[in-house]
Amino acid sequence: MKRYKKYIMPYLASFILAPVLMLSEVVGEVALPRLMSLIINNGVANHDTSYIIAVGLCMIGMALVMIIGGVGGAYFSSKASICFTSDLRDDLFAKVQEFSFNNIDQFSTGSLVTRLTNDLQQIQMVVMMFLRMAFRSPGMFVGALIMALTMNARLAVVILVVIPLLSAAIAFLMITAYPLFGVMQQKIDRLNSGIQESLTNVRVVKSFVREDFEKDKFRAMNLDLKESSLKAMNIVITTMPVMMLAMNITTLVVVWNGGNLIIAGDMPVGDLTAFTTYIVQILSSLMMLSMVFLNGARAMASVKRINEVMDTQIDLTDENAARKDLQVQKGRIEFQNVSFSYSADADEKVLEHISFTVEPGKIVGIIGTTGSGKTTLVQLIPRLYDVTEGRVLVDGVDVRDYSLRNLRNGVGMVLQKNELFSGTIEENLRWGDEQASMEEVRKMAESAQADEFVLSFADGYQTEIEQGGTNVSGGQKQRLCIARALLKRPKILILDDSTSAVDTATEAKIREAFHTTLKDTTKIIIAQRIGSVEEADQILVMDDGKIIGMGTHEELLASCEAYQDIYYSQRDQERQVSA
Ligand code: ADP
Repeated sequence: MKRYKKYIMPYLASFILAPVLMLSEVVGEVALPRLMSLIINNGVANHDTSYIIAVGLCMIGMALVMIIGGVGGAYFSSKASICFTSDLRDDLFAKVQEFSFNNIDQFSTGSLVTRLTNDLQQIQMVVMMFLRMAFRSPGMFVGALIMALTMNARLAVVILVVIPLLSAAIAFLMITAYPLFGVMQQKIDRLNSGIQESLTNVRVVKSFVREDFEKDKFRAMNLDLKESSLKAMNIVITTMPVMMLAMNITTLVVVWNGGNLIIAGDMPVGDLTAFTTYIVQILSSLMMLSMVFLNGARAMASVKRINEVMDTQIDLTDENAARKDLQVQKGRIEFQNVSFSYSADADEKVLEHISFTVEPGKIVGIIGTTGSGKTTLVQLIPRLYDVTEGRVLVDGVDVRDYSLRNLRNGVGMVLQKNELFSGTIEENLRWGDEQASMEEVRKMAESAQADEFVLSFADGYQTEIEQGGTNVSGGQKQRLCIARALLKRPKILILDDSTSAVDTATEAKIREAFHTTLKDTTKIIIAQRIGSVEEADQILVMDDGKIIGMGTHEELLASCEAYQDIYYSQRDQERQVSA
């Protein structure tokens, strides 16, 4: 609860005013039936018009106070709950942005989206409901009970029998519904993850004609959610009529006994109308409370899920970095006996005993079968993951000693699965450097062989990229991503298979341009084609998490069997294609 105090304090006035204003409604609700009974007993019975008018005016005044209190209460409760959730949402999003790759691996994206939307909405609703009902329901319950007891204690005994029964029904509702709401929220989570995966990859789905499969998969998840929602709702649905029945029977018993008392002359007529109203008030305040509890139970499941995100330990921070002010200066890279596995309990290491050095400004090529650990290896340089054993040094300093900002500013990386964001091409490129002149933007786009095709678009650099970059081709997207990384003018540039969709001639031009634009930058190029790394100063050949060959193209061709295999098989393929 302590965590949420910070979201309440700025809106404390609203948090206090809302329930207090609601209380004015209670005063009215409890007083009005009594005033009504006075009119009937004294005014109507004695034909005293002036008494009726006096008490009537009093009732109008009270009703006005109730309106003001009700509207004010509704206003402040809405304000408090909306502001509370908005701040919480901000913090939650900020927390997720801090997540390391490893942290993100723990939650699915869909689940994070559900937590940030649906779960927060649930909480907002309950906070609002709570502020409106917190004083009102108990206030009405106590007020109406006192009035009923003081008016006719004998009749009021009926209620004292019903209250424990209803309370038991509410307790039952709470205990059985709570776990079911947790399950329901999980199912919503799964559904959202499914929708997200299917929609972001809708093109793949279509190209593999998997629409029917996706529909069936969705239908199954939707059915699952429907069933668990119905299960939770069935409890609510069955509890409600039971409560209504209890309320109606109680009213009946009261009217029956009250009628007899009136006939016997032991009770004025007006008292019975007031009394029945109090009975209804007592029981409906209990029902309102049960609704608050019920939604509270649902929101508790959501709070738990929000807490999970908030409590996640960011496993990769620069809090203990020894050289926070240090910038990457030269771009020298050294791996010292590095081993790595994605999770602590995994037996198998994805990287084993990797050691190599790259001098500043040099080009290193990495080649190897898929799954051999190439991406994993380069991700350790900008600290997207931390090593399990050994050290990665940049300019002779352990990467864990840099501030993450300085390290990542010094290391430009074009990921294998790269993305553009909605916005213009220029805006996308400026991610690399917001201050860059248009001249520089274009220069880097030229180096990445992107300038020409960008200018061929009607709007040039102002062309809007659609969400997910769907209106540019794969090769164009790759080139824009390279230009974006170049604008950072990094000391180390990592290209993870980032020219796979670019034709060989254009790729050669990009490499050529690197010699001039990025003369002093250390470049690491992961590639499938030997042609892409042939000119590198050093080539690493990887297999199953190990480096099995290291040297120039000529050296490897002479000494490394795996490299020879790749080289000759690719050469044969090319010959077949050209023949
Ligand atoms: P490459 O880039 O050479 O194709 P990767 O470095 O992507 O290889 O993957 C190496 C191994 O690590 C593979 O077996 C892959 O399944 C595994 N792997 C990659 N990413 C993750 C991850 N986020 N969590 C767990 N295992 C992973």
